[in-house]
Amino acid sequence: MDAYVFPPAAQAAVAVRGTSRRYAVSRIFCVGRNYAAHAREMGFDPDREPPFFFNKTPIDLVASGSAIAYALGTNNFHYEMELVIAIGKPALRIAPQQALDCVWGYACGLDMTRRDLQAMARDKGQPWDFGKDFEGSAVIGALAPASEIGHPDSGVIQLSVNGQLRQSADLKDMIWNVPEVLSNLSTYYHLRPGDLIYTGTPEGVGPVRPGDRLTGRIDGVGEIALAIGQPE
Ligand code: MN
Repeated sequence: MDAYVFPPAAQAAVAVRGTSRRYAVSRIFCVGRNYAAHAREMGFDPDREPPFFFNKTPIDLVASGSAIAYALGTNNFHYEMELVIAIGKPALRIAPQQALDCVWGYACGLDMTRRDLQAMARDKGQPWDFGKDFEGSAVIGALAPASEIGHPDSGVIQLSVNGQLRQSADLKDMIWNVPEVLSNLSTYYHLRPGDLIYTGTPEGVGPVRPGDRLTGRIDGVGEIALAIGQPE
């Protein structure tokens, strides 16, 4: 007799550059407002904002190079280009000075966002889930192992739409850098292999339309591409 009522879903996983092996994903954390200029463009004072997180579901993952339908239930579907951390070792209450030890690698990511639903929830004091956690919302490029690329703490992060540059900043402009993000998050969760952390987007977020082609890159990390299709 089958052990499951339905066949289990395929394991969510991310490509690893230069190999056919894949990184199995169990959780996705995302940092909110982690670049000062982006916090300001969203109407917030970055100086007074402590770090905060929201989550996406592994079923939201989409590989770089894919086409996704324009998201359901939104009229303001936005891109957010981000550096993604992949955890490789368990970590609990890890100090910033040791935090990089738990990192397996890095990738380019797009935190796709239903901005109208996010703004409505924010204004009503409701959860962000409908704005952030939906199918196709967690786009990710191939993971680059830290053993090969090191731990990027600076470098250009860029996103273009149809060849026009829309976001261009430097990783060093993060309010909370990678070790600080890991240290903070590890006081609330047991970090473990399979955890991805989207580290926030710089300024220049904006809407996409059906037919748009997004291309992003982060110095020393890699590239990402996404095509936006028609609404379903
Ligand atoms: Mn984001």
